[in-house]
Amino acid sequence: MDLAYGAEYEAFREDVNRFIEENKDASPRQSGTGRPNADQRKWQDLLIKNGYAARTIPSEYGGYGAEPDILKSRIIAEEFTKASLPLGLASQGVSMLVPTLLELGTEEQKKQWIEPTIRGEVVWCQGYSEPGSGSDLASLQTKATEDGDDFIINGQKIWTSTAQVSDMIFCLVRTEPDARKHEGISYLIFSMDTPGIEVRPLMTMTGYAEFNEVFFTDVRVPKNQIVAERGQGWFVANATLKHERGMLGDPNQAGTRLAAIIDLMHDETVSGERLIDNPLFRDRLVQLQARVAAMQFHGMRLLTASAKKEDPGIARLVVKLMGCELNHQLAALAIDALGELGVLYERSPHLRSGGRWQRSYMFDLGLIIGGGTAQIQKNIISERGLGMPREPKPARKEGAA
Ligand SMILES: Cc1cc2nc3c(=O)[nH]c(=O)nc-3n(C[C@H](O)[C@H](O)[C@H](O)COP(=O)(O)OP(=O)(O)OC[C@H]3O[C@@H](n4cnc5c(N)ncnc54)[C@H](O)[C@@H]3O)c2cc1C
Repeated sequence: MDLAYGAEYEAFREDVNRFIEENKDASPRQSGTGRPNADQRKWQDLLIKNGYAARTIPSEYGGYGAEPDILKSRIIAEEFTKASLPLGLASQGVSMLVPTLLELGTEEQKKQWIEPTIRGEVVWCQGYSEPGSGSDLASLQTKATEDGDDFIINGQKIWTSTAQVSDMIFCLVRTEPDARKHEGISYLIFSMDTPGIEVRPLMTMTGYAEFNEVFFTDVRVPKNQIVAERGQGWFVANATLKHERGMLGDPNQAGTRLAAIIDLMHDETVSGERLIDNPLFRDRLVQLQARVAAMQFHGMRLLTASAKKEDPGIARLVVKLMGCELNHQLAALAIDALGELGVLYERSPHLRSGGRWQRSYMFDLGLIIGGGTAQIQKNIISERGLGMPREPKPARKEGAA
């Protein structure tokens, strides 16, 4: 296996590093609300202008307009990660809605929504899950009935991240109640200010309301705000989920986190002994280091497939499954390394790294569930990837339809 990128690409890497060196001081602090702050928007504009964000989005929709080049994209990600700089906005709108509109939206939808979304001016939330329809998403019940040129929506969503600060929602609704469950769904985009929408924040164990319940009562949405055809929402949602799963479990992030833990274990001491010199901690660290390396090589495998324009198929799901679990285990090691300081949270003069390890430890547990649970990922990998027998369906009750 030849892992060298070649002279043209190494020259490109130098350009990226020059940009980083010259501009790193302008990189923003996190806003923490889900809504980009002024610094983040300024940074995003700079990245777009120089082709480091929205790189392959056509310029007529506000992107940089470069030809897709998977190796260049990879180099950008590698160098920004190494420098611990944010590579632009990674919101649900940017990562999920924009690629979906590019693939399936009308020209009008692309012109209206892509540019303000990639610039962080319009914030989106994803209205898929409902109480009782998470893993079995196609059973969703939120109804959209026709009324002239509009749909009227009634129902409830749950676990809707950032709904409390979002301007817009991309939402799955049932438009054909009599069709088979996968065929009666449509994908609508509409404003969160539409009358009849109520958002109720749900507190998570981090102490913050990261997601919400969203209730719809007679919410009126023009029919032309549908993406693709009526009844094709399941197909559109799957196009979106492909991007969500690609975004979660990034091995570069695990690499950065591993490097931070190594620093932490150099700095923290117990009875005068550095944790990095403690055999039990070193053993755990090395085990995780091996898994980070495996994920990075797996990333190379996916990269090779993309560069050859081959579909990596089910191998893509391994990233979400293993990457999210790995990130959580890295945070768990950091918490253990912090000992009694690991239970501190929020405000304490003894907090390390502003409490980021505690927050990651709690928040990342959710990422093993969000975007498809680990159990469901394992089922798909085993059944569709490895050809193992399908999971038996639960027995039907007698007389049930
Ligand atoms: C941090 C976070 C953010 C989220 N953000 C959003 C968002 O922005 N928008 C949105 O629409 N949704 C969001 N979700 C919801 C997420 O997509 C769902 O939680 C997820 O799909 C699981 O659905 P559920 O919670 O209904 O669990 P269930 O489907 O009820 O599952 C409960 C448990 O049973 C297991 N299980 C279910 N079926 C099977 C099976 N056939 N085989 C084996 N095990 C099974 C599951 O793996 C799980 O462990 C978010 C969730 C989290 C945690």
